[in-house]
Amino acid sequence: MKHVYDYAIVGGGLAGASAVQGIRELDTAGEILLVGEEKHLPYDRPPLSKKLWFGKQKVEDIFLHDRAFYDKHAVTLALDTKVARLDPAAKTLTTAGGETYGYGKLLLATGCKPRMLDIPGGDSDGICYFRNLDDYLHTREVAAQGKSAVVVGGGFIGSELAAALNIAGLHVTMIFPGELLCDRVLPDYLARAVQQRFAEKGVRVLASDKPISFGKNGGKFVTRTEKGESVESDIVIVGVGVVPETELAMSGGLEVGNGIVVNEYLETSRPDIYAAGDNAFFPYRALGEAMRVEHWDHALNQGKWAGRNMAGAHEPFTCQPYFFSDLFEFGYEATGEVDARLETFADWQKENDTGVIYYLRDGIVRGVMMCNVWDKVEVARELVRKAERVPPQQLRGLIR
Ligand code: NAP
Repeated sequence: MKHVYDYAIVGGGLAGASAVQGIRELDTAGEILLVGEEKHLPYDRPPLSKKLWFGKQKVEDIFLHDRAFYDKHAVTLALDTKVARLDPAAKTLTTAGGETYGYGKLLLATGCKPRMLDIPGGDSDGICYFRNLDDYLHTREVAAQGKSAVVVGGGFIGSELAAALNIAGLHVTMIFPGELLCDRVLPDYLARAVQQRFAEKGVRVLASDKPISFGKNGGKFVTRTEKGESVESDIVIVGVGVVPETELAMSGGLEVGNGIVVNEYLETSRPDIYAAGDNAFFPYRALGEAMRVEHWDHALNQGKWAGRNMAGAHEPFTCQPYFFSDLFEFGYEATGEVDARLETFADWQKENDTGVIYYLRDGIVRGVMMCNVWDKVEVARELVRKAERVPPQQLRGLIR
């Protein structure tokens, strides 16, 4: 065995890096190993589909910490390294390269991987299942030379990247099975208005359709769809959802369902092993049910929380995640259960542009989306946390 660390963190994303901070808040001396599959230092993911495209941030600014931070906090970095096996009884990790490390406390912050399209050409070279910094760098390079893009998926990745590539000057065609883009979170009329804006900006929207194959014609990709369209493009980007990385947890016999199952202390079913971030199926206290949350703010807070608990805090996780998106001039911040299937009440200040949408179940506010209304997340969180019945007329003007 190479070495026994007091703390091992598997996952070099935001949750993993935040755990280092959490541990160091309580334990300044314990040895930490941080293993990441990517070759890059931990970085922020939201800019990959937003600010990096709008010139508001540079690649060198997205890293969470520089190397000096990890040195200062005595963190051994094992980047470009995949952990292949976990043995909870022996308290060891074994990498794909065959090296074995021991741990006292372990965090699985392994995140999610893109869902692949099971269609002819779905796994061919050049089809970009957009998720990480290398995907951004590749897309940026092609976008600088190319003129056209096909974007598959009408969720977060699809809508943000379609907007970004359009702004970058490419002819963009979006393809997704739903009738309206972002229709899982946006109420029908708002999704319609956002889709209309995409069309006005010049994005070709092929809704209620799906790719059935990807091929090549000379240097161009050819995407064929269920409805008989054939679209040529220089690049194809796919964002059709993600699945939690649970293989390592399963190799160690941990309880896994829709993610790695953890209790309110972020402990898994095996002693001294924690999970946090996109892959953790946790009790979401404010909503009163267990779920997974795949957003930036959640990875930040839950990672840190797990780090503190690994270092002995033993505090139940109470943070209430929020998320945000930017689609041309329409941007929003949201918290709670932002599910378009719920009843909604909209308090618009300007039609479908600036205002607040409340998501209600049995008259109780479950989620809040603030459209072009900023820095009110705390007020919204409190409203969801209280879980009180609020008549719609009392919601009007509550958040401005
Ligand atoms: P997503 O938001 O779940 O959206 C998936 C999209 O793919 C949906 O529009 C879905 O349509 C569509 N789809 C499913 N099967 C398809 C098929 N066979 N062909 C074409 N389209 C298909 O997932 P994502 O956009 O890939 O995002 C991945 C993750 O990144 C998510 O966890 C997300 O939270 C995170 N992310 C978050 C942000 C943010 O918070 N602003 C930004 C970027 C990424 P239907 O809905 O009709 O099934």
